[in-house]
Amino acid sequence: MAYERDYPEIRDAVSKLCSQYPGEYWRELDRSNSYPSEFVKALNDNGYLSVLIPEEYGGSGLPLSAAAAILEEVQRSGGNGGACHAQMYTMGTLLRHGSDAQKQKYLPQIAAGELRLQAFGVTEPSSGTDTTRIRTTAVRDGDDYVVNGQKVFISRAEHSDLMVLLVRTTPREDCAKRTDGMSVLLVDMRDAVGNGLTINPIKTMMNHATTELFFDNLRVPVENLIGVEGKGFGCIIDGMNAERILIAAECIGDARWFIEKSANYARDREVFGRPIGQNQGVQFPIARNHVQTEAAALMVHQAAALYEQGKRPGAEANMAKMLASEASWAAADTCIQTHGGFGFTEEYDIERKFRETRLYQVAPISTNLILSFVATNELDLPRSF
Ligand SMILES: Cc1cc2nc3c(=O)[nH]c(=O)nc-3n(C[C@H](O)[C@H](O)[C@H](O)COP(=O)(O)OP(=O)(O)OC[C@H]3O[C@@H](n4cnc5c(N)ncnc54)[C@H](O)[C@@H]3O)c2cc1C
Repeated sequence: MAYERDYPEIRDAVSKLCSQYPGEYWRELDRSNSYPSEFVKALNDNGYLSVLIPEEYGGSGLPLSAAAAILEEVQRSGGNGGACHAQMYTMGTLLRHGSDAQKQKYLPQIAAGELRLQAFGVTEPSSGTDTTRIRTTAVRDGDDYVVNGQKVFISRAEHSDLMVLLVRTTPREDCAKRTDGMSVLLVDMRDAVGNGLTINPIKTMMNHATTELFFDNLRVPVENLIGVEGKGFGCIIDGMNAERILIAAECIGDARWFIEKSANYARDREVFGRPIGQNQGVQFPIARNHVQTEAAALMVHQAAALYEQGKRPGAEANMAKMLASEASWAAADTCIQTHGGFGFTEEYDIERKFRETRLYQVAPISTNLILSFVATNELDLPRSF
């Protein structure tokens, strides 16, 4: 492969670790709709999920691109980082906006693998992508906020101790800007479940441990407010940019997995007395996938580099996520086509990865909304909503 590999030692080590969790491991979890606890523990034990935590708090203090390299390798090995990627991107909100006291309290435990920060609660059933219309509220009562409302598609909530939660603290109509009046709370779910928080699993077409959440007078201590009350949207954006960049890196890993699988099969499979890959009708789509993936990877690097400079690279993070998810989806489609009937069988893992990578054109943000962001913010076209 021609592309430059950053963090080669980390990549090799992650790849080696992942080789202990082969296709059969993921297939079985997929069949039983179970969470990959052993795999996530192994990543944690080896410090990979705490690479972004500064060394003073027990992490390795590496930049976002190191986290991107780790998640890319997980996907590239045929695994699914969706089970644990949130620990890295929710960190964006806590690291940039958490108080010293909050960092002291939580980061060392997260770094030690004693606390899991795997849940990011933004989406609601009635607001959809229009985040400023969220209806989950937090009302101050003494030293607590009292939270009421509902969230949907909150992944890994059953496998996390902490959740970064976006709530409204001031009604939208009372705010000068629609993005004002929202706040971010760090919810300790160990205390919350059964005391105002109910978690219901949602079964989806891939194994993603997603859930719906109901808040009924859940009390969250005011000291768990991250950043400034009413200014939570800005805090959550930093987490979202990290999320888009890391998920883009996962899509690059997926794309590379599909491309390698397609090329290997096209070289080996003989029909009509020659390798199918000798036919340009078979090799060109794979070559096109490679071109798309390498171009998308450059955008992922660019977005990560800007993020690491402390900037808020909304456009680059969104463009990276769109390009990478389109590259992985195109490569997934080619992979099925290249394998003919075998592409549909469980044992090749292609149909599983095909289902898994499809998600990233909808979550964490859909392609239409990215195009809308780029049109209005980068090209100064009129807003459509
Ligand atoms: C498996 C899974 C896991 C998830 N995990 C999490 C999580 O952990 N935390 C979390 O907060 N959320 C999570 N989500 C939610 C995810 O981020 C949303 O599903 C996604 O942002 C899209 O929102 P929506 O489903 O409400 O779609 P909607 O906003 O209802 O949009 C539906 C469709 O309409 C299109 N559309 C809407 N408005 C416009 C417009 N103005 N112009 C053009 N097109 C438009 C969209 O592009 C989309 O294709 C998850 C979702 C899934 C499926």
